[in-house]
Amino acid sequence: MLMQFQACLIELIQGDITQVKVDAVVNAANSHLAGGGGVDGAIHRAAGPGLIQETKRLYPEGCPTGSAVATRAGNMPAEYIFHAVGPVWRGGGLDEEELLASACLSCLELAREHNCQSIAFPAISTGVYRYPVDLAAETMLKTIHQFIVEHQVPGRVVIVLFDQGSFGAFSRVLETFSDS
Ligand code: ADP
Repeated sequence: MLMQFQACLIELIQGDITQVKVDAVVNAANSHLAGGGGVDGAIHRAAGPGLIQETKRLYPEGCPTGSAVATRAGNMPAEYIFHAVGPVWRGGGLDEEELLASACLSCLELAREHNCQSIAFPAISTGVYRYPVDLAAETMLKTIHQFIVEHQVPGRVVIVLFDQGSFGAFSRVLETFSDS
């Protein structure tokens, strides 16, 4: 599914984010940047062992929840990996929405700083961190839409959904957006 917003495109695909050809791939990391399961494990396997060395060297303190940091992408086709730390869902009363939005925004700001024309996001926090996927879709898409309308970059934002349920949830929300 594709939607054009002025000069920018938001694209939803179902698949494996490590295979997507974009300038920057967003990782759903943990605050220790220690690697893990899910999309984090897949990205570390695809990038190679240099990635954990680079995160430890550049960010020995890790990365706070609601933020993101950049590394190179090792053996992946991308230039950069932006390691975003989303919140653990604890019912919605502990600033989860703000933290997910600010993790996304940090990635979009990193994309602008690094002159990335394209960026791919996974559905941050919706796996082990249990964020309800329909709510994550609303917050992520709202944050991305606002940013691209305001800044006209990055030109292409791909959201890579691993399973059909997540793809459906993001599609239903994206359909409610229009260029007006
Ligand atoms: P978190 O800890 O932030 O919840 P997870 O990695 O557990 O992160 O899950 C985030 C989302 O990424 C989930 O929807 C999961 O299905 C999805 N995911 C897992 N592996 C991949 C992959 N290779 N490409 C894209 N998405 C993936």
